[in-house]
Amino acid sequence: MLRWYPAAMALRRTSRITGVVTSRFRLGEADRVLTLLSPERGKFKAIAKGVRKPSSRLGGGVEPFAELHLGLASGRTFDVVTQVQSARVWLGLRGRLGSSAVAWYAAELVERATSEEQPEPALYDLLLRAWDLLESGAADLLVARWTELGILDAAGHGPELDACLDCSRAPLEGEELRWDAEAGGIRCATHGEGAPLSSDALRLLRALRRFAPEELAALRLPAAALLEVDRALRGSILALYGREPRSRSFLDEVMA
Ligand SMILES: [Zn+2]
Repeated sequence: MLRWYPAAMALRRTSRITGVVTSRFRLGEADRVLTLLSPERGKFKAIAKGVRKPSSRLGGGVEPFAELHLGLASGRTFDVVTQVQSARVWLGLRGRLGSSAVAWYAAELVERATSEEQPEPALYDLLLRAWDLLESGAADLLVARWTELGILDAAGHGPELDACLDCSRAPLEGEELRWDAEAGGIRCATHGEGAPLSSDALRLLRALRRFAPEELAALRLPAAALLEVDRALRGSILALYGREPRSRSFLDEVMA
């Protein structure tokens, strides 16, 4: 005997997951499509229906910079968010323009480095630590650089900071170097071209890699070195992704 089940009911699986929103766009009158990052599931998209209506139950729950417990139902194209509960909220970020610009930027860097439906807990942790740093008042620009270097290292494109890429000679104290964003690392003046990299900038790069994020707040370095490191890592991120992150121009505007 044939029995009929409504297709939607038969196919709908539900799940519960912990994750953060890394980007979102509006859909139709009142919906949003969220890109979510979860330590167990990697990157995936879900639709929050009716979330832009004032009466929405999900409403405030899917704000950015929060770790969420989500109830999901599998849908035709995207999962559908059925329940939201905030587990942790980085409230300080929302109130500071500079910090929230870096927080969105960090979210985009991590989102792009994470594969669809592939658990990458280390990248997830990197993003949450970046948000923690911003929340605790570490300098916004230092956190941006720390996140960039963390992404490069995690993606297996960590730049060489200890020796010239060509002759493997360790730089001398005060030696002016060159930065090779494509190959990833430093070169001595004999083997490199392009913009110079001062020993202060190299020291900052090494510190960003070596120190626990909590210690970053104590770093005091010349503004010129921070600018050099900004330019160097910007080049490396561009080499990694093939184009600038979308949120970078907003960050530049806020920081100008
Ligand atoms: Zn060399």
